[in-house]
This record gives sequence, structure tokens and C-alpha cells, in this order.
Amino acid sequence: MPSSEQDPHSVALPAGPGLDPADWSGLRAEAHRMLDDMLDHIATLAERPLWQPAPAEVRARFEAPLPLAPTPLGDVHADFLADILPYGSGNGHPGFMGWVQGGGTAAGMLGEMLAAGLNSNLGGRDHVPLDVERQIGRWMRDIFGFPAAADGLFLTGASQANFCALLAARTRALGGDVRRKGLPARLRLTAYASREAHGCIPRAMDMAGLGSGQLRQIPTDDDRRIDLDALRAAIIVDRAEGHLPFLLIGSAGTVNTGAIDDLDALADIATEFGLHYHVDGALGALGVLSPELKPLFHGIERADSLAFDFHKWAQVPYDAGFLLVADGSWLRAAFSSDAAYLTRADAGLAGGDWWPCDIGPDLSRGFRALKTWFTIRTYGLDQLGSAMVGTCRLAKLLADRVDAEPVLTRLAPVALNVVCFSYGNAPTEAGVAPRHSLNGRIVERLHLEGSVAPSLTLVDGRPAIRAAIVNHRTRADDIDRLVAGVLRVGREEAGRALA
Ligand SMILES: *Cc1c(COP(=O)(O)O)cnc(C)c1O
Repeated sequence: MPSSEQDPHSVALPAGPGLDPADWSGLRAEAHRMLDDMLDHIATLAERPLWQPAPAEVRARFEAPLPLAPTPLGDVHADFLADILPYGSGNGHPGFMGWVQGGGTAAGMLGEMLAAGLNSNLGGRDHVPLDVERQIGRWMRDIFGFPAAADGLFLTGASQANFCALLAARTRALGGDVRRKGLPARLRLTAYASREAHGCIPRAMDMAGLGSGQLRQIPTDDDRRIDLDALRAAIIVDRAEGHLPFLLIGSAGTVNTGAIDDLDALADIATEFGLHYHVDGALGALGVLSPELKPLFHGIERADSLAFDFHKWAQVPYDAGFLLVADGSWLRAAFSSDAAYLTRADAGLAGGDWWPCDIGPDLSRGFRALKTWFTIRTYGLDQLGSAMVGTCRLAKLLADRVDAEPVLTRLAPVALNVVCFSYGNAPTEAGVAPRHSLNGRIVERLHLEGSVAPSLTLVDGRPAIRAAIVNHRTRADDIDRLVAGVLRVGREEAGRALA
């Protein structure tokens, strides 16, 4: 073996403080400045542009070569302030109504910082951070009226939670053998959701190897809720044709319009046909925190599994999705394995009886529970629920404003906090890509102006301006600015098209 003198790549045995500073005082002072900067940022969100394009010279700095040598923390922080902070995605800003995104909170941010400092791995073992995650699971069980045997865990978001629920439903339908042998030949599992269901549902079928074509996308009624008769008919046809229906997915707030399926009637159909009943509650489920909204979700307590996002309506900083199942053994059956390096002990650090790696796809996991715990405890569930119902009132206000403007057309009923409308009432512009349509151009120009940001969607194939009011900071004057902005830009763009 070469000695260290001969081998330029070898290093002496580690000594000194490792990556910790020899003197903490400089780092401490910088850390306090960072915290102050970030609190200032949150406190003054409304005063700065919602979004702005990053200049080419800023983007170019991210092409810099490998940083082999150290850079002082203060310089890295300065680069963050100059090149990253001003060019965020804007979802904290009160005028942000594009897509369905939460606004975050200071308490959530602090919880995230503390979690990073603690740096616990929540894959398993015996430590109190797991008790925090479990406590949130129990709180959710109680909030949603799930049975005592319920269990659940954090995942990145509802896309993953829906996917994991689908895997649990598959294992429930076919038994644990499917994990080893794969799908038996000629067995065609079918799942059912409304055609308004989120795109992650067909993708989950795809990722699970079942095929997105095996998801039946059922038509909806005038309120964009799944058509129960069409659903029932589709299941019966599939059975007659030799498919194996296994999963029914209800929407507790569709992404496009916020429609809530008849969750109680879906539970009846799932029972009748022996299907696993999953609810995608990413957008709306936590609305049960508001006594005013809770009745809309009647029947959610009968779901076998429920996916939802703390990072949307509950304002927890990204990312914080959650999967709750009525019987924890379904997750164990779908995910547990017995790797030697995960050997359990009766006592000590390798003890503990609740290891999330047994009930989900990840081994190493962060402490998403802590920022959620800080958010829930600091603001209280009642206040979070009030913020949710507040966004629904703003959506009603926006719908009224749209209905009162002859040049604006509302394109869908408002069930919760999402309003879809268009400037003018023209049918789809033939041969024009949605983003180049009149309404597409309005949305793009509003983004560039940086004061309000709706998003563009399609409602029955028609380009629509979509305002999803999720952020707890949004106020009536943001709604006024949205309506005024759409009217002004719409007039200009429509005039330009005529000129
Ligand atoms: C946002 C959303 C999803 C996806 O959730 P992510 O957290 O973005 O993965 C799924 N379904 C609905 C209804 C949603 O609104």
C-alpha cells in the first residue's frame, strides 16, 4: 500500500472539527442575518413582484464550473440574495392564484429549519421524531373519522400518495404474491375515476405497470362530479368482459374546478362491487377543518385510503403530502421487506415498532412532520380551517365579479376555491394552441406584469383563466386586481387581434 507521501489523493486521518467551523461566532452572526432576511422577505411579499423573469446574466451564473474550493458562507448567502431569492416561483405572494399551491408560513419555515438542524432520518429506528409523524397520523385519523386501525405517513405529495394507495389496493386485490411474481398473465385490473381526476392517477396506473389505459375515466354531471350511473355501468361492462375491477378513486376537489364527487355514494358503489375505495383529497380534503366546509366531504370517512397535501391548503412549506389508510396492514403488505441491514432490536436505537420504511416506498426520509407539526400547533386547526373557508369566500366574490362583467364568462360552477372563466365568450379558436389563444395571452401578460398570477387551463376543451385561491394571504383587493387586469389586458389583446 502506498504511503501518504506517494499518493497525492490520500489524506491524513480526520482531525479537527470536520465540516463544523473552528469558531462558531462568524457562522452564528451570518445565520442570524439569514433568518432576518427571510423573515423580511415573508413580511414584505406583497410589496415585491410576484414573479419576474431572471436576466440572462443571472441564469449564466448557474453555468459556473465545479466549486472545488470552499466559498465563505457570507458569499454564498450574498449569491442567494442576488440570484435566487428575487426569482422564486411566487406562490407566497397574495396575488398568486395559478395552479393549486400553498403560500407557506413563517412557523412552517422555522420548523423546516429545525428539522434540518436535527437531521433525523425518519425511515425507522427508535427516536421521538417518529412519534411526531405518528401523532400527525393519529390527528388525521381523528379529523377524517378513520378507524382505530388506520395508519399513514408523509410522502412528497399527493402524486406519490395516490400511487402508493394504488399499490396497496393492488396488493389487497391480488395478495402479496404479486410483489414477487408480478401480474398474472391475462389478468387486467381496472380502476375508475372521473375524467376530471388529476393526471397523476393515470400516471400511477402507468407507473404500477397496470397501464393508464386500464383507468376508466368516467363522464361527469353538470357539477363536474363523477356520473354514478355511468360509473356503475362501466364496472358491469368490465366485469362481463373479463376485467378485474379493483379500485375506485373519488375526488375531494378536482384540480381543474374544485368539484367534489359524491363521496358517500362512491363508498356504497365500492362496497357493492368489492373495490378498494380511495379518495384523492390533494386539493380539498383538509377542508374538513372548517365546520362550514365539512358537510361537502360527507362520506370521506368511509374511504379505504385518502391522499392529501399539507403543502396546499394547509400552507405547510413544500413538500408535505400524506397518505392515510383505514387499515395499516394494507401498507405493510404492500411495502414491508426484511433486509438484513434493517434488523430490528428489542431495545436500543434499532428498536421501535413503527418504521415508515415498512409502510412506504422510501428508506431514508426527512422530517416533513416537524414543519407540519409547527404549522398545526402554532396556528391551530381552527385558524387553518378559517383560512380555507376564507379562500372559498374570495372565490365566490370572484365568481360574482365575473358574472357581473358582460365581457367575462364563467366556465364552471364554483364548489370550493377555484374559479374558471374566460374573457369573451368565443368558442375555441380553431387551430390556435391554448397558450396562443386570447385567454392564454392574457394569462401570460399578467404573469409578466407580476402582480397577479392566474393559470391557464382547458374547460371542455376551451382555454380558461383559472384562479385557484389557496394562499392564506390573498385578499379582496387581489381579486379586484385580477379582474381589473384581465379586463384591461383582454381589451388590449382583443383590440390587437382586430387591428
Ligand atoms: C395537486 C394535486 C395532485 C398532485 O399533488 P402533488 O402534491 O402536486 O403531487 C393530485 N390531485 C389533485 C386533485 C391535486 O390538486
